[in-house]
Amino acid sequence: MDVPPTPPPPVVFQCASCLLIVADSLSWVRATPELRTFTLAAAPAGTILVSDDLSTSHDGHDLGSTYASFACASCNTPLGRIYRTTPRHLDDLRDYLTFDAGALKNYQVGADEAARDPLPEDADLEILKPEPGAIAQRLAIMETVIMAMHDEIETLKAAMHASSIDDKEDTLGVQHTVNHRKRQ
Ligand SMILES: [Zn+2]
Repeated sequence: MDVPPTPPPPVVFQCASCLLIVADSLSWVRATPELRTFTLAAAPAGTILVSDDLSTSHDGHDLGSTYASFACASCNTPLGRIYRTTPRHLDDLRDYLTFDAGALKNYQVGADEAARDPLPEDADLEILKPEPGAIAQRLAIMETVIMAMHDEIETLKAAMHASSIDDKEDTLGVQHTVNHRKRQ
């Protein structure tokens, strides 16, 4: 009996702010860890709103490219960019949906399917081996998510450091005011 290989379940991406499902990895193009982005060829109708304005990137990995921003159709949180012109190394992002990994949550559909549906005893063991392409895709998603989380942690650390300096200045400011009043 021939058992057709089970395709790996797609990774589903949600808006991190309102949890609207905005896309899945079935239309996967690539991850670009340098930009902290995933690029997908398509999203379900009505999940994103694309800006009419074109912007130009003036620094970073996408320097010199022009793009239209897009946002979550439900909560209007910016989710990513559609590149219209790109440097050569980003050519395969052009006209696709490039999502900011930090603006998304992701989860894998059907991760427990294997546990629910035990394999028939005579199943060809080949189907237990995920395709190399699927593994590479998941590693690319994980790498990009981890790098986006690292950026977020660094931003939070910088903000905490800045606010602790502010607190010290505030205390000195209050002290100064009190002294000033005493002198009057
Ligand atoms: Zn949203």
